[in-house]
Amino acid sequence: MQLAWRRAMTETRAILEKASATWSRHGCPGTSECCQLAVTRRPPWLWPSEWKVLEARLEKDRRPLPPVRADGGCPFLDAAGTRCTVYESRPFGCRTFFCHRITGPTKLPADETNALLDRLRAVNVATDDDAVPHSILEWHTASADRETK
Ligand code: SF4
Repeated sequence: MQLAWRRAMTETRAILEKASATWSRHGCPGTSECCQLAVTRRPPWLWPSEWKVLEARLEKDRRPLPPVRADGGCPFLDAAGTRCTVYESRPFGCRTFFCHRITGPTKLPADETNALLDRLRAVNVATDDDAVPHSILEWHTASADRETK
């Protein structure tokens, strides 16, 4: 992998950690219903560096790309569909989206979140002018297609 993308991944990991810290006073019941993407129709959108972080996580764990789930849930859910198997490496959107069952302070850290999103965009565009975000399902399909070629 190009050095530039390695740097982008390092910066991305820092941004992801910061996103979690920014939302650390908020919580939810943790049922993973928001990961049932066919139901929510709100898949997280990932910049290329976020997808690369997920791929690196699989590589580190010596795990293959997980298959598409029959229930339309995120492929990174465990077999029972209740736990994220890449939790520590999960994308920005998974760290900053809460449904109506959110708990914690009424004031949401919108400004801080937008500033981090701007950083994430800047990191990616600085690495590749053509970088754009895609849904996690689109990234998954593209990677699966590459593996079968
Ligand atoms: S990456 Fe993890 S937290 Fe994000 S939608 Fe998939 S299973 Fe849920």
